[in-house]
Order: sequence, then structure tokens, then C-alpha cells
Amino acid sequence: MLQDKDRIFTNLYGLHDWGLKGARQRGVWDGTKKLLELGRDGIVQQIKDSQLRGRGGAGFPAGLKWSFMPKENDGRPHYLVVNADESEPGSCKDREILRNDPHRLLEGCLVAGFAMGAEACYIYIRGEYVLESQRLEAAIEQANEAGLLGKDACGSGWPYHIHVHRGAGAYICGEETALLESMEGKKGQPRLKPPFPAAMGLYGCPTTVTNVETIAVSPEILRRGADWWAALGRPNNTGTKIFSISGHVETPCNVEEVMGIPMRELIEKHAGGVRGGWDNLLAVIPGGSSVPCLPRPTCGSVLMDFDSLREVKSGLGTAAVIVMDKSTDIVAAIANLSHFYMHESCGQCTPCREGTGWMWRVMERLVRGDANIEDIDALLEVTYEVEGHTICALGDAAAWPIQGLIRHFRPEVEKRILDAKKRGQVAAE
Ligand code: SF4
Repeated sequence: MLQDKDRIFTNLYGLHDWGLKGARQRGVWDGTKKLLELGRDGIVQQIKDSQLRGRGGAGFPAGLKWSFMPKENDGRPHYLVVNADESEPGSCKDREILRNDPHRLLEGCLVAGFAMGAEACYIYIRGEYVLESQRLEAAIEQANEAGLLGKDACGSGWPYHIHVHRGAGAYICGEETALLESMEGKKGQPRLKPPFPAAMGLYGCPTTVTNVETIAVSPEILRRGADWWAALGRPNNTGTKIFSISGHVETPCNVEEVMGIPMRELIEKHAGGVRGGWDNLLAVIPGGSSVPCLPRPTCGSVLMDFDSLREVKSGLGTAAVIVMDKSTDIVAAIANLSHFYMHESCGQCTPCREGTGWMWRVMERLVRGDANIEDIDALLEVTYEVEGHTICALGDAAAWPIQGLIRHFRPEVEKRILDAKKRGQVAAE
């Protein structure tokens, strides 16, 4: 369990002043100039040593990603783009940082941007986050007035400007290249990679797109040292993480905890446990709606980190833990997600455009039991045809929940079909 002394987000619940004065009292903007004096390579090395992995879902090593930015300047500006388009169903962690601790993010933007040689940072924020974008704008103004940002950020001689860009509500704009397209004023459709954003990103310039939480924790890692961060959690799964726990628990919440905390402990200690007790648990989606669900026996032993969840064929994703008790119609729940992904597909590539709609229609029939047993395998086969065969990960995100359902709840799906057939026979007789 995370000790208070290791907690980074000390205003996660908005109990204190979110403004500059309050942030400074919590240690934000403390010695930032000294952090910049570590130099570009020094900062990147510290982040690499800490083994910080991106908090946006993919879990890519953050230091490595930052190091992809060109060292030499070829005349094009470098950009840092912060992905605050948090739209994954179940995920609401970045929202708390944005509205309750915006200066922690801004300090991270400066440090990370400096490490990438960026002179400007854009924060692309989900359009529905109105209060959050207002707070962010106000915090930027405060930081500019205090000389923490601007022509001579923190007295370092480095000019650094942060701008807020509001999205318009499309889930797909959370995909990094669709986000860049959207920022450029185009339709939010993912780009083919390569070229990767570090070579050709925003306006054709070297760009790194990174999640809010990843950026927000980085100054604290530099202040306290990579060893401190690496000592929390497990090797390759280090540090702290904000978990969003929702669904059939007594007290849904966001909580910062240590990586690798057992799922059961996380739910029972922070969310008051499963409604009706642990034995009433049916399944948990551990990382936002796009990862496969896990049945109760697995939930009782699995650890909440990237590698542990991958070993049980699921994922940490955004660490949005969706708890479903035995009152849940699991087939309908997954069908609901299928509808979501069909609706959010940008339609650019055929397996996703056609596959998501096809999968949703079959899922709807499975909810009613209006199908044949062979349809289950056909559906599974289509999920494998979609997975890994699309431009962006939305295809995978649509396929994985269905794969999880069939892997763990196939008897329930079959029973529904057989029951419907029996009812049909009785009616015919
Ligand atoms: Fe668009 Fe789907 Fe293809 Fe992604 S996978 S580019 S969302 S059609």
C-alpha cells in the first residue's frame, strides 16, 4: 500500500487550493530551474532509470519515447503535445489532475518539453472538460505572470509557452495521430505510421504526444530521484498510479496507489468492496473498456500492473477498474461496449469500419440468444481478423472485450442460445 510520504497527487480530491499559491505549498514548482539544469540528456536518463511507463494506456517506456526526439535542430520547431482527451469509458483520472492540480501538469510540461528541445506545448483537452480547461487556462496565466513560463521560463533562459486546445468530443482524437490531425484543423483520423510523430508530428515538425499523468509525475521523479520511483512497485512496473474504480462497488473513487497492488486489495481498501461482498463479484474490466474482462477467481489473485495483467490476457490500460457484480448481464455489457466502438470508429480502414458494426450486430443477437452455437466461433474469428489489421488500436479495442467475454463466459453465451431455442420449440409445439 502506498505511504503518504510517497504520494504525488496530494490534491487529488480538490480539498486544497488548486492555484499557484496552494500548488507551491504542496511542493510544485520547487527548484524547477535546478531540474532544468540537469540538461536534456540528464532529464531523459533519469526518466529512463526510473522505468516510468506511459500512463495513457500503452505503457510504453516514457524516457525512451522522449529520447526519440531529434537531438539536432534542423530548423523545425519541436513540440510537446499533452493528451488530455480522456475519453476511455471508465477512465476519469486525468480530469482530477487537470482541475485540482493543474500546476503539477504545467511544471511537468516545462521539464518534459525542455528535455525534448520543445519551445511550445499544446494541451489537447477533451471538449466536455469545461471546468478543467478553465482551470488550466487560469493556471497558465498564473505561471506566466510568475515567470515560471514564458520568455525565460523559471529564469532558465529557455522560452516556453503552453497553449490549451479544446477537442470536440470524438473518442478517436485520443489516438495520438488523430489528435494531431484534429489540432491541425482536419478530420480526426489516425495517420499511418511511420513516419512517427517524433520525426513528423504536429505541422510536420518533431512532436511527442504524452498522457497527462505521465507528464505530471515527471518533475517529482527528478526531484526525489529515479531510485525513489523505481523502488515503488515491481521491476518494470514502477511508481504510483491513479486508479479509477467504478461500477458495482460501495464507494467508487479515484485513488493514487502503488503499481502492482493486488486488485482485491485495491477494491476492498479504497472502494468499500464489491456490492454484496467479494463472492457477489462476477467480473472486472481492469483497464478501461478496451481491455478483456477477468472473472472472479483471477481477480482474487492478479496484481494491478502492466505485466501481471498481460499475463492473464488483459491489460492495465488507463487503470480504470470497472467492477461488475452478479446482477450484471455480462453479454449485454460487452454488447454495449461493441456499440461504443462501432460508433467511434473513424471509418478509415475496412476491418474496423465493417468489423465493428458486424461484431456489434452479432453481439446484439447473442444478448437475445438469437444465434447458433457456431456463431460464437465465427464472431471470435472475426475479432482476430480485426485485431492487429487496422491503422490504429481502435480495432483491437473493439475486439478484445469480445474475446474476453468468450474466453471466460462462453457457457453463459451458449446457455442463452440454447434457452432461446428451447423457448422457440415450446412455442412451436
Ligand atoms: Fe479509424 Fe478504426 Fe481504422 Fe482506427 S482502426 S483508423 S478508428 S477505422
